[in-house]
Amino acid sequence: MTMRHVIRPILRRAITLAARSLLCVAVPIGSTGAQAGRAQAGRAPAPDVVIVRAARLIDGRGGAPLEPAMVRIEGDRITAVGRTLPVAANERVIDLGAATLLPGMIDLHTHLTGRRSVHWEDALVKTTPAFDALWGAANALVTLQAGFTTCRDMGPTWPYVDVELRNAIDAGAVPGPRMMVAGNYVSSTGGAGDARQFSIYVDVPLVRNLADGPQEIMKAVRTNFKHGSDFIKILASGAVLSKGIEPGAQQYSDEEIQSAVTEAARWGRQVASHSHGASSIIASIKGGVRTIDHGSYLNDEAVTLLKAGNRRTFYVPTLYTSVSIEEDGVAINIPASELERSRRITQVQNAGFRRALAAGLPIGFATDAAVIRHGDNAREFALRVSLGESPMQSIVSATSLNAEIMGWSDRVGSVEVGKFADLVAVTGNPLVDITELQRVGFVMKGGVVVVDAMRRQSAR
Ligand SMILES: [Zn+2]
Repeated sequence: MTMRHVIRPILRRAITLAARSLLCVAVPIGSTGAQAGRAQAGRAPAPDVVIVRAARLIDGRGGAPLEPAMVRIEGDRITAVGRTLPVAANERVIDLGAATLLPGMIDLHTHLTGRRSVHWEDALVKTTPAFDALWGAANALVTLQAGFTTCRDMGPTWPYVDVELRNAIDAGAVPGPRMMVAGNYVSSTGGAGDARQFSIYVDVPLVRNLADGPQEIMKAVRTNFKHGSDFIKILASGAVLSKGIEPGAQQYSDEEIQSAVTEAARWGRQVASHSHGASSIIASIKGGVRTIDHGSYLNDEAVTLLKAGNRRTFYVPTLYTSVSIEEDGVAINIPASELERSRRITQVQNAGFRRALAAGLPIGFATDAAVIRHGDNAREFALRVSLGESPMQSIVSATSLNAEIMGWSDRVGSVEVGKFADLVAVTGNPLVDITELQRVGFVMKGGVVVVDAMRRQSAR
């Protein structure tokens, strides 16, 4: 029996167990006995209709809020948006009173299968893929409940567990955000993603993520797509939470980065480049990657190249990680050497963000969740606003801009006719107090209410 034959049934069992404990939170809207009866009679039932009403709608595109606002939802899609909409007698109205309604938020850099208190190198020798699967299901729920209805997931410790998590969510087995997954990040030998930071005698045979030279990288890209990855994550520089090469050092050569982009493009897919250092950022932009993740040492040359690229490559910082590592690093077992790396990079990261802001660059929204606590994703907003970004700009970043970056503008990122009914609501006005987004009281994904904890004001 091969390893795969052993692991697959374990994962399936793990996901079923997770589903049993978690499924009860998702309540489909508007299912009625009458509709079930029609279905039994053999005719297709009319899609469920629900109207969500709130004092204000920020639709994710950056325009003035709509006040008041109503959103009509049929099945999993938005079919009308307006100040007032007609409501038929049999249609259900969810009245959110004085609340502000927004699109479901998007995080471009999560590790949903990662458990925060377990260092990834420890996880490789002390846990199984089932650990990632179960915690992945739990973290997916927490993230969804925090109002993040879409995540680009940057890869698990155990390869391809994120593919299975995405599939389980899509199949309705466990609740979670829509996921675009990396499967197995691609790293050079001895670099940030090299899990073998152990004695040369310790082998971790299942992690086949190392690729050196354009040929091996091409093969790694093909292997990832074969096994269900949606995009490619490469580690173009060192990392903060690693004992490998320094975060500022370039780790993949220009040719190696180019190879990943060229092969991914043949499949019509994008490459995300984990890049801290300036030279890795610049090489990645020139190589044509979609996102510069972290982008810590973003300098003027990089900004100029990004502007010239005209929305081909996007800068996607993860700033709140520094705060989180500083506050909780010791408690969650981050080694002292990596805490020191984080401290050294904080001011540089914030300066890079201000530089991008001053240049008017579109800035993607991401958190590196797993490094920060899952569900704390919205804390990134307050930090960005404190560094000079307007609340509206940060909301656009986490909604329509992130959808554009993912290539998913046709389905998520704004409250518009034809998009998935992914909605969140907060009691106050996030344009006045951006921390409102940390207290989401209502979440709907694809027309299904996931969280409904808002105090209702009177209906009329
Ligand atoms: Zn990451």
